[in-house]
Amino acid sequence: MLALLIPGPLSPGNDIHVYLQPLIKDLKELWEVGLETYDSLSNQRFDMHATLMSTISDFPAYAMLSGWSTKGKIACPACHYETESLFFNKSHKHCYMGHPTFLDLSHPWRRNKRYFIGVTGQRHQPVRLTGIETKELLCGFRNKCGKLQKITKQEKEVPWKRVPIFFKLPYWKHCSLRHNLDVMHIEKNVCDNIIATLLDLPGKSKDHANVRQDLKALNWMPELHPQLLEDGKEVFPKSRFSMSLEEKRLFCQVIKNAKLPLGYASNIARCVQVGERKITGYKSHDAHFLMHYLLLVAIKTTLSKDVAKPLLRLCAFFKGIWKKAIDPQDLDYLQTEIVETLCQLEEIFPPTFFDVMVHLPIHLVEEIKLGGPVGIRCMYAIERYLRELKSDVRNKGRPEGSMAERYLAKECLAFCGRYLNRSNNPSDNNAVDPSISNTLFPNIGRPIRGKGRNRKKKDYGFMMDHITRAQVHQYVLFNCDSEEVERYIE
Ligand SMILES: [Zn+2]
Repeated sequence: MLALLIPGPLSPGNDIHVYLQPLIKDLKELWEVGLETYDSLSNQRFDMHATLMSTISDFPAYAMLSGWSTKGKIACPACHYETESLFFNKSHKHCYMGHPTFLDLSHPWRRNKRYFIGVTGQRHQPVRLTGIETKELLCGFRNKCGKLQKITKQEKEVPWKRVPIFFKLPYWKHCSLRHNLDVMHIEKNVCDNIIATLLDLPGKSKDHANVRQDLKALNWMPELHPQLLEDGKEVFPKSRFSMSLEEKRLFCQVIKNAKLPLGYASNIARCVQVGERKITGYKSHDAHFLMHYLLLVAIKTTLSKDVAKPLLRLCAFFKGIWKKAIDPQDLDYLQTEIVETLCQLEEIFPPTFFDVMVHLPIHLVEEIKLGGPVGIRCMYAIERYLRELKSDVRNKGRPEGSMAERYLAKECLAFCGRYLNRSNNPSDNNAVDPSISNTLFPNIGRPIRGKGRNRKKKDYGFMMDHITRAQVHQYVLFNCDSEEVERYIE
């Protein structure tokens, strides 16, 4: 992994493929030649082969790895050329609507004109590009390296930015799910959009004066058009989801006062400012928890039934896809749920609410069918590991060097630790003095250091050698009255 530790403060952008070359070379060798490996169970050596099945990254990095630009009017990599979007001049944003095209052809809403007027017609939902199709599309495409390259207007129109280096792997074009959408980031962004719009947070809310002007220019959602008063002032009518000050306060209060089991979530109450009616500064896992549990209660308490219902369905959808084991029969139901929910939300929220992150959940069920449960394809583990790497930085002038050095030190210690632990066996004639392992791993025999008052006390904790520890352990076992322990004593 550290072979790809890229130096420099800036993201390499599309040039990441240059840094990926050593990795691709190794992967190619692993596929074609294999690596001699020892199997301790059968005491034999064999040639181990390995494949890269898919990649996982956040949405901007998705563009770097897949070569498909995730910006502009065809930003969705799954809908590709058939992405439904509209540019709003005043808001200066692309909005990705047209979710009714994803409805089943026999769905009753297909016959309802209100979903299909002028926008989508009786169109079918887009079909994902296969690896072979992508490779054919990119045949003859010339990669441009370096950030100082001039891009012509014609090149800007093309959604492909470069040929992904992964196509050098002979099997890559046959992989059905080559790049995963990261559910962690999608969930966080959707949660941000909902909270900011419902609480009307300045600068973050998706319902603002510009979008109202856009709606008037397009003659959409007439109930939201700005109205001119006699004195020349413009008034913006209230939307269906707007809350009074008292309702916003109640919304915040519900989240602030929630009592959660210990260790279940971080202290979300710290992000809620009831007086200012704000919820800010929460992390990805907080958003995950809000979407699954707390937002449901707050929405039910404050919003009207017609607005609350689609939002509750959206929360239930996210809860449904995060299950560790999903019955394949439930997946079709989840897909119908998300399509219907987004169609209903299109009627309630202004178009700016539908940025690409709100559109992406529509493809998540398909990705579960191709790649398995969400839990094994999300970025929580990777983000935690990145945090660990960042904590290794001691010299901030040379962060990459610090990480590489610390990583190597940890690997060496882990190797030594394994060797020393094994030699603690008293029957082993070559046993190494256990005290050496204690100097390497000073926490052995110590109680776990806790937070709180005791943290500052210098005399906190004590060193216990292995023999004493075994004696204490034996003493406790032999002096327990419990029936469970008796079995072991016998
Ligand atoms: Zn799409």
